[in-house]
Amino acid sequence: MSIVGIAFTPADATGIQAFAAALGMPFRLVQITGDPNTSCGAQQILSAGLEDIPPADGLVSSLEGVVQGASHIVAVSSMASKDVMARLAGVLDCAMVTDVVSADSPSTFKRPIVAGTLVETVEASGAPIVLTFRPAGFTKRPPERASEVESFSISPSKVRVTQAAHKSGGRPDLTQASVVVSGGRPLKDRETFESVIGGLADTLGGAAGATRAAVDSGIAPNELQVGQTGKIVAPDLYIAAGISGSTQHMAGIKDSKCIVAINKDPDAPIFEVADLGLVADLFEAIPAIRNLLGK
Ligand SMILES: Cc1cc2nc3c(=O)[nH]c(=O)nc-3n(C[C@H](O)[C@H](O)[C@H](O)COP(=O)(O)OP(=O)(O)OC[C@H]3O[C@@H](n4cnc5c(N)ncnc54)[C@H](O)[C@@H]3O)c2cc1C
Repeated sequence: MSIVGIAFTPADATGIQAFAAALGMPFRLVQITGDPNTSCGAQQILSAGLEDIPPADGLVSSLEGVVQGASHIVAVSSMASKDVMARLAGVLDCAMVTDVVSADSPSTFKRPIVAGTLVETVEASGAPIVLTFRPAGFTKRPPERASEVESFSISPSKVRVTQAAHKSGGRPDLTQASVVVSGGRPLKDRETFESVIGGLADTLGGAAGATRAAVDSGIAPNELQVGQTGKIVAPDLYIAAGISGSTQHMAGIKDSKCIVAINKDPDAPIFEVADLGLVADLFEAIPAIRNLLGK
């Protein structure tokens, strides 16, 4: 049995290394964007070296050849990976399991359901198994020997990208960031959100996130939504400012290592799950924190 890991971003390689170690299997890596991490312990790295993740159709037809013979084809969970991996599972006519958080055996996996309130155990039959996993569930491994890197070309897509807009303003990807600062409904408008939440995120070198209430009110852009119907994050530090702590929001942040809540209501539900809580007005607390940090 062997794994082919599809790394959509360079950071995915260490997640795939951890997943393969949990299953005790060797793996090959297909690196789609950026420079490959050659010390991830892969037996071989095929690197496409692209700047952006290409449309799923051309990518899947290119991947079909390189995944032949693998028992598992895996990727870190993200919007892009679910799009591509679902299409790949369809083309290969095999089972797909998403958002795996642990493996009981090479074919039995645990994954959260119902906004993370339940964990189901699923057994995938047949081969290969296509799956996406949440890296927070798998212990990171130290760097390993350098792997051989070969170039890999992606077939042209039938879809033409006419414009690609990067809206993160140079901040790290929300799903990969080690620090995430999120804001909720009290942030009032886009300018306030950007200066208060974006400002603290920049001070800490992190990503900015938002609740659905903030997104629905036009305070924050759609792609920043964290939660059950948004992105799943697992940073070392998650700062929730002016966020009540709804079940749907918590479903997206519960793998965070340390949750810090800033809320002026001492009875806000977020304090029940926060590791550190500050009962304060965020418009006073955040500038004070930035001041202490010297920015
Ligand atoms: C099917 C479904 C899916 C959903 N998916 C998601 C999802 O993916 N993500 C998500 O986030 N939500 C989701 N929601 C919405 C969710 O139920 C909540 O409505 C939402 O998370 C609340 O956002 P909020 O915390 O910003 O707002 P509120 O609940 O209004 O809370 C605002 C908080 O800010 C505090 N506050 C106010 N002013 C200040 C201040 N000056 N300083 C400090 N604190 C202050 C208040 O005390 C309050 O606790 C979903 C809902 C449904 C029904």
